[in-house]
Order: sequence, then structure tokens, then C-alpha cells
Amino acid sequence: MPCDSKPFRPQQTLAERKEEVRRTVEKFARGLADGTVKAVVGPQGAIAFTGVPNSERNGVTDSCVYRRLLATGSAMARQQIARAEQLAGRRVDQKVVAGGTHGHFDSNGNVSWHKGH
Ligand SMILES: [Zn+2]
Repeated sequence: MPCDSKPFRPQQTLAERKEEVRRTVEKFARGLADGTVKAVVGPQGAIAFTGVPNSERNGVTDSCVYRRLLATGSAMARQQIARAEQLAGRRVDQKVVAGGTHGHFDSNGNVSWHKGH
């Protein structure tokens, strides 16, 4: 499901939402490039990003960030995703991501993975 196909806040236009999603994804891309954002690939092929607090995510999910970075992200951001895949020893599985499996980070930076909500 595209993450910018409907407004996220009251009174927000679709164009505003698209811009908000674009800016949010850019923040992840910058963070991946400068090391403040980390991508983690789970044993089942899901992906999670840490380093951007929920309060700054504007309702943009990790799977949305992932899809947009692959489609439009900088080479640097994509390189960091490839690196996370290498560390995990497996590729991100688009079907798992599309199926809603996602990760949550605890305060120690450990990820727990859930399927859907
Ligand atoms: Zn969850």
C-alpha cells in the first residue's frame, strides 16, 4: 500500500502529504548516509530503521521508507541497505515487507519482529 496515498493529518491535502512523506524519507536517507540511521534486516527478511524517533516519522512506516529509498533514494542510502542485508546474511524479502512484518527497537537497540498489528 503506498504510504502517501491519503492525508495523514486533518485538513492535510494529498499534495501536502506527498511532500511530508518525501521529506521524511529524505531524513532517513540523510541519516543512513551520515550514520545516524541504521537499517536492520531480520531473519525473516523484514527491514527496520532506527535513528528517527516516532515523533519525527510523520506516520511513515519502515516498509514505506524501504520502498521509497529503493525507488528514489541516494546510492549511499541503498548501499547501507545492502550492507544491512550482508550483515543479516540474507536479502530483504519484498513479500515479507509487503505482508506487514516489521521491527521495534528497544532502548538497547535490539529489534523484536512482529507480523502485522
Ligand atoms: Zn509491531
